[in-house]
Amino acid sequence: MTGPSRGDAAALDAADPLAWCRDRFVVDDPDLCYLAGNSLGRLPRITVERLARVVADEWGGGLVRSWERWIDLPVRVGDAIGTLLGAPPGTVVVADSTTVNLHALLDGACSARPDRGVLVVADGEFPTDRYVVDGVAAARGLTVRRVATDPIDGPPVDGVGGIAGIAAAVEPGDVAVVVVSAVDFRSAAILDVEAAVAAAHRAGAWVCLDLSHAAGVVPIDLDALGVELAVGCTYKHLLGGPGSPAFLYVRPDLVAAGLRRPQWGWFAQRDQFAMGAGFDPVDGAARFLAGTPAVLGLVAVEEGVGLVAEAGIEAIRAKSQALTAFARAVVADRLAPLGVGWASPTESERTGGHVTIAHPDAVAIGVAARADRVVPDVRPPDRIRLGLSPLSTAFVEVWDAVDRLAAIIGSGSVAGPEPGAGPRVP
Ligand SMILES: *Cc1c(COP(=O)(O)O)cnc(C)c1O
Repeated sequence: MTGPSRGDAAALDAADPLAWCRDRFVVDDPDLCYLAGNSLGRLPRITVERLARVVADEWGGGLVRSWERWIDLPVRVGDAIGTLLGAPPGTVVVADSTTVNLHALLDGACSARPDRGVLVVADGEFPTDRYVVDGVAAARGLTVRRVATDPIDGPPVDGVGGIAGIAAAVEPGDVAVVVVSAVDFRSAAILDVEAAVAAAHRAGAWVCLDLSHAAGVVPIDLDALGVELAVGCTYKHLLGGPGSPAFLYVRPDLVAAGLRRPQWGWFAQRDQFAMGAGFDPVDGAARFLAGTPAVLGLVAVEEGVGLVAEAGIEAIRAKSQALTAFARAVVADRLAPLGVGWASPTESERTGGHVTIAHPDAVAIGVAARADRVVPDVRPPDRIRLGLSPLSTAFVEVWDAVDRLAAIIGSGSVAGPEPGAGPRVP
């Protein structure tokens, strides 16, 4: 059986209901295969216009008077993201980085639950999440319990070593918060969030969901899931640009019960410009704001999120699954015979917005790929992530990228496996 041809890819593009989206992006080099949108999304054209206008007219012309239109950006853009995530207005705000927001939420949660001494995180969780959990635990004298991550399927929910097992094994009522990603950053495995939340809640633990790789590409319904807290970045599938500010979600009843972050700042203050003597935070997630927001980043996020909303998350998910299934077929046909492993789930239903392949010479392949105008996202020692952005990635782009990777690996110009190198990821 032969795999998909370039003509098959072109036919899929011709039939793609989201094909119009690609024209909404800056594509300087049509021959460049950009497969890193899960790391930094392509630049929407409308963002170029909006930033130019904000810089020239609002900053250059309006100067300090423009704060009238800027001041509510963290809440306004938060509400737009909330709409994508099934979160009611006022429960999501945009500020700072995912790292800082996770710190603020975890710190606040631990202060609100002083009788609980354990935080749970997967050992294969995104590094900054692990560091934040370890940092908060170290500062407060808490214990960290780690869920052993499967390299393909991500952290297990069931079983002794899974989220359920660990939460249950710990002294009853001792887990404060479970921190977990909805989509695994390495393999793109989608967590069974419902089951994970149920397991955590059985142990009385709160859940802080990291949506960095999920927001804008996988449907999420925070309200229905009942998670307490969530964070995520905006420069991946939400298209906010390099260093654009992150979002955070707080379940409304927790704010009503007094949850707050330990870093108090005037952007959370009721009647901010009264400059009152004492800290009196507003209601809603806005009380998790701290200082002056990054306006240029925020307006870029607003445009990126607007484009995602225009395309619609259901259509985005459908294209995303078609892209991952197509990538799997082409990789199986062209790269598997060259010793490349598949390091993502095999079903597109369980896979987020990228796929991961494995080869011992991943780093050298990545360098050669860039020279051949393929931009993947290499994760040493042996993984190459292929980001498949439903709004901007064409099926032909995926086919061309795999074709070039096959030429690179097949030429033998990258070093072969080292003798005695361990088994490859399947
Ligand atoms: C990308 C990503 C982050 C990024 O954190 P920053 O503070 O924005 O650098 C955090 N967590 C996960 C799971 C991510 O994928």
